[in-house]
Amino acid sequence: MNRLDILHLFPNELNTYGDHGNALTLKRRISWHGLEPVFHHHHPGGKLPPRVDIVIGGGGQDSAQADVQNDILRIGGQIHELAGAGVPMVLICGTYQLFGRRFVTSTGQEVKGIGVFDLETIGGPKRMIGNVKVKSDFGMLFGFENHSGQTFLAENQAPLGIVKRGNGNNGKDKTEGARTNNAFGTYMHGPFLPNNPQFCDEIIRLAAVNRYGGFTPREIDDSLSVLTRSAARRRHY
Ligand code: GLN
Repeated sequence: MNRLDILHLFPNELNTYGDHGNALTLKRRISWHGLEPVFHHHHPGGKLPPRVDIVIGGGGQDSAQADVQNDILRIGGQIHELAGAGVPMVLICGTYQLFGRRFVTSTGQEVKGIGVFDLETIGGPKRMIGNVKVKSDFGMLFGFENHSGQTFLAENQAPLGIVKRGNGNNGKDKTEGARTNNAFGTYMHGPFLPNNPQFCDEIIRLAAVNRYGGFTPREIDDSLSVLTRSAARRRHY
């Protein structure tokens, strides 16, 4: 069976609001599509696996982000190579911020990032918490945000989508997340992939096409997620 190798960055340090659900969803949907998911958990000091088809990373406290800063800078060159080769990546909140240029926390501490995305994040006085609805090239995306960092994209940095409800990157300019090549950053927890199975399948398709030159999706019964998505669409906060 054709396998897909998934690199999960800092699963112990960066995993807030159920972000491990993204790994579980990828695992299950990759299997349902007839491929074999193989996970590699990256911990500080570790070596990256020889083959990476998908990269994921979750959210975290400011202090946890500072704890992994040196290690992400150490592997930053390899991550850039993967991003340049079109490897799909799903980076949530704390990891999203670390894939930007820098994060200055609300206490003034600077956490350096690896700059896959041309953006920076400044810790603000108020937390942005609540349900988010985002219009994107992958249909409507739903999630739950909880961050004090306000992220500002450089002029040429593409967002993941446009905020229809909630705060998104900074509560001001209506952008949400970022996209460079096939690397996607977002503030959406929820977790994100179970709420947005069409986006998960797009990540799997990109990975399978990169590695095997094609992808034949299998039919999946998504009736429960259709129900949760229609409930999410009707929410007003
Ligand atoms: N510590 C970051 C912030 O508050 C990220 C939080 C998160 O990952 N949910 O902005």
